[in-house]
Amino acid sequence: MITSFHASKLFPISRSLNRYYHFKPQYGAFINGKEQISEKGSRYKLLSPASGEYLCDVINTPEDQTNEAIKIAQQVFDSGVWSKSDVRHRGKVLNNIAEAMRAEVPRLLELEVAQTGRPIKEMRAQLGRLPEWFEYFSALIRTHEGTVPPFSGSYINYVKRVPLGVCGLLTPWNHPMLIAVKKIAPALAAGNSIILKPSELAPVSVIELGEICKNAGLPDGVFNVLPGYGEPTGRAICSHPAMRKIDLTGGTKTGRVVGKMAGENLCGVITELGGKAPLIVFDDCDLDQAVNGAAFAAFVASGQTCIMGSRLIIHESIYERFMTKLADKAKRIKIGNPFDGNTQMGPVISSASRQRISGMVSEAIGQNAKVYSGACVPELPHPFNQGYYYSPTVLGVNTRMHIWHEEVFGPVVVGVPFRDEKEAIALANDSPYGLAAAIWTKDVMRAHRVADDLHVSANINCIFHLLSNSFFYLGGNHLDQ
Ligand code: NDP
Repeated sequence: MITSFHASKLFPISRSLNRYYHFKPQYGAFINGKEQISEKGSRYKLLSPASGEYLCDVINTPEDQTNEAIKIAQQVFDSGVWSKSDVRHRGKVLNNIAEAMRAEVPRLLELEVAQTGRPIKEMRAQLGRLPEWFEYFSALIRTHEGTVPPFSGSYINYVKRVPLGVCGLLTPWNHPMLIAVKKIAPALAAGNSIILKPSELAPVSVIELGEICKNAGLPDGVFNVLPGYGEPTGRAICSHPAMRKIDLTGGTKTGRVVGKMAGENLCGVITELGGKAPLIVFDDCDLDQAVNGAAFAAFVASGQTCIMGSRLIIHESIYERFMTKLADKAKRIKIGNPFDGNTQMGPVISSASRQRISGMVSEAIGQNAKVYSGACVPELPHPFNQGYYYSPTVLGVNTRMHIWHEEVFGPVVVGVPFRDEKEAIALANDSPYGLAAAIWTKDVMRAHRVADDLHVSANINCIFHLLSNSFFYLGGNHLDQ
């Protein structure tokens, strides 16, 4: 049986941090315009990665509730209340969502920092621009034009874009709102119904987005959020025959599993998966700028981004200088309370994650990796000594090591020297991952020549400035992207 749940209260989650958040005691699925608690759903405790403190209970969405939500989403789609509504109406609602979200940023910011441990400075910058996604797609549908392909005789042939139906969106924990919003905004703009499953490690802010969308005028049942684990909730979504598109951002392994399930129903799939982005640094670069860029690319979000600059490919003549400068910078990074405006790096997401990171670093050290900085758990005062922190780590490695090839998804960057341009390109392309790269050189001709030979998109003398003034794509021709 499904009961509805509306209670909200000011809930003290962390006396030691002297902070009080608008967390509800428990979070369940947001279906058909209201938060619903399934009595069959098991529950788990969401903990702060920064201090291990209790945040709230989250109720997993069981299979029958998932199926019920998909049925409702399909019915609402078929009714046409959103899918066939005038684009001006959809555009207006998207703008309302943007406005409502902007007003809620301070509250969403607290939830987001508490559940991910990301420093408030970083998260504030990220959340502040999220409403723009709704505004962008609102403008796009209003200005979109169909096309008329060539035709002859007494026939007319035109292309009209129509919504697909129910779309399943699966999101990770590293940028919970950002990744959700960049999927939700275009899916809603097109007129689809949405079933979104956030990561079980950071579901709260996205569940709260349900209420924001409803209050902004989105019809009930169009946007539904189902918290829970990949198994059974994610599986029930991906394998449901009503799904018309699955959009996953997550690990490569998950991408294969999800693709298979969707494929059984011949359902379309979009995946944005792992990364191991190379940074090629030539000896004519501005060294300080390149070191700053590399530090940002390696340690933003504690290294937990898909486009993290995790493989440094440095010209041999500046290799030692570069690695030492980067390590000095890494040692000065302020680690600690994510709610402190001066904190530059927070914890990684979980104890399991820290264990995996530390295991990969130990393995590399066992194979003679040179430690320039980190490779340890930092000493922090209570309650942060209960959190999942790992020191910013710079390692000198060789390309036979596992850590050169595998995604660490933590604050660990590895470096190797190169002799000439050809070798730099070969090293950069020596990866199954294909998402992004960066090139640092003052030689413009070389920058573009090297970029052309990389198997992935490249930034030149800058680092992954994704959120400039347009929404563009990263990727390449490798499998895992
Ligand atoms: P996961 O692949 O573990 O999870 C992603 C989402 O898929 C989660 O909601 C997860 O649920 C769900 N999921 C997991 N297994 C299944 C399954 N069998 N069936 C259906 N759904 C499933 O990734 P993480 O959350 O750990 O995020 C880290 C990964 O995401 C990294 O590899 C990173 O590189 C990648 N990433 C890629 C980005 C890109 O744009 N290319 C951007 C950000 C991250 P749950 O975990 O709750 O069980």
